[in-house]
Amino acid sequence: MTGGGLEHDRSVREAYARDASGLRRVPEAVARPTNAVEVAEIVRRAAGARMCVTAAGAQTSTTGASISDRGILLSTRAMARVLDLDERARTVRVEPGVLLGDLQRALAPHGLFFAPDPTSDQECTVGGAVACNASGPRTLRYGPTRAHVRALTVVTADGATVEVRRPLVEKNTAGLAPVQDPVDWFVGSEGTLGIVVAAELSLLERPARETGLAIPLPDEQRALAFIVAARESPTMRPRCLEYFDAESFAIARGDAGAPSWGPKAGAMVYTEETTDGGEPPLDAWLALAEAFGANAADVRVFDGGAAIREARRL
Ligand SMILES: Cc1cc2nc3c(=O)[nH]c(=O)nc-3n(C[C@H](O)[C@H](O)[C@H](O)COP(=O)(O)OP(=O)(O)OC[C@H]3O[C@@H](n4cnc5c(N)ncnc54)[C@H](O)[C@@H]3O)c2cc1C
Repeated sequence: MTGGGLEHDRSVREAYARDASGLRRVPEAVARPTNAVEVAEIVRRAAGARMCVTAAGAQTSTTGASISDRGILLSTRAMARVLDLDERARTVRVEPGVLLGDLQRALAPHGLFFAPDPTSDQECTVGGAVACNASGPRTLRYGPTRAHVRALTVVTADGATVEVRRPLVEKNTAGLAPVQDPVDWFVGSEGTLGIVVAAELSLLERPARETGLAIPLPDEQRALAFIVAARESPTMRPRCLEYFDAESFAIARGDAGAPSWGPKAGAMVYTEETTDGGEPPLDAWLALAEAFGANAADVRVFDGGAAIREARRL
C-alpha cells in the first residue's frame, strides 16, 4: 500500500528492517507516501503522537541510519519522479526516491549528468545521497553532492514544508560560513533535520570523451608518490585517482579475468581523463607512470563510457 496511511503488517515492516549495515531493526509502522503533501501529513500526525519518523531511501546505508525499531519508517521509494528538467539552466528538480542511476539515464540523451558518483549509484536515491552528502571517486574533480544541490524542499519535524535555496548572489563577508546557507544545514544531516521531498540539482555537460587508465605500480610507496605527482601535474587533469593496495589489485585481477596482469606490481592506481573530443594525454600519463616504476605494457586503457563502466566494476 502506498499513500498517507501507516502499515503495521509484519511482512511489510520486515521488508524495511535491513540496510547495508547488516543490522536488523523492525519498525513499528511503515509509511510509503507518494507525494510531499502525504509526507507532511504523516510527519504532522507522528509529531502529534510523539512518534519518531526515520526516512529511508534505497536503504544502502552501511551505518544502520535508514532503519529503526522505534516509530515509523518512511520510505520515499514511491516518490521517484523527475519533475522538471531545465536544459538551458542545467538544473533538474526531482523527487527524493529517484535512483541516481535512473537520473543519469534520463539526463544522458540531453548531454547532461549529475556529478556525484557513489559506488552505490545504481541503487541509491537522490534523497539518500543528499542526506549523506554522498561522494565518489570523481569527487576529486567535481566535489561531493553538496556542491550540486541548488534548492531543497524539506518537511521538518513539526510537519511544516519549507523550501531552502542557495542565494544567486553571495555577499557574506562575516560570520561562520557553514551556517550561512540553509541548504548546507540539510545536506549531510542524514534525515535528522527534516525529510527531503524534492531537490533541485545542478547538472554538468557530459564530456565528449572520457578515458580510464588502470596503472599497476611496483609498491604502495611509489603508487602514493605517483598520485601526488599526478595531482600536481600541470598537464594532466585527473577526474579521479583511486588507489588499490596489493590485495585490492589481486581482486581486480580476478574480476578482470586477467590473473597475470601486472605480475610484479604491488599496487594499482585507477584514473580518468576527459576531453572535449580531442586525444587524452596518454603519453604524459605513461611517462609519469614509468617515472614511478610502472611497466607501460601493464597499463590498461578504457576508452569511452561503456568501457569505463566495466573498469569501475574492477
Ligand atoms: C556497495 C555500497 C557502496 C557504497 N558506496 C558509497 C560511496 O562510494 N560513497 C558514499 O558516499 N556512500 C556510499 N555508500 C553508502 C550509501 O549508498 C550512500 O550514502 C547513499 O547515498 C545512501 O542512499 P540511500 O538512498 O540508500 O539512502 P538510505 O540508506 O535509505 O538512507 C541513508 C540516510 O539518509 C537518510 N535519508 C534517506 N532519504 C532521505 C530523505 N528523502 N530525506 C532525508 N533523509 C533521508 C536516511 O534517514 C539515512 O540517514 C555505499 C553503500 C554500499 C552498500
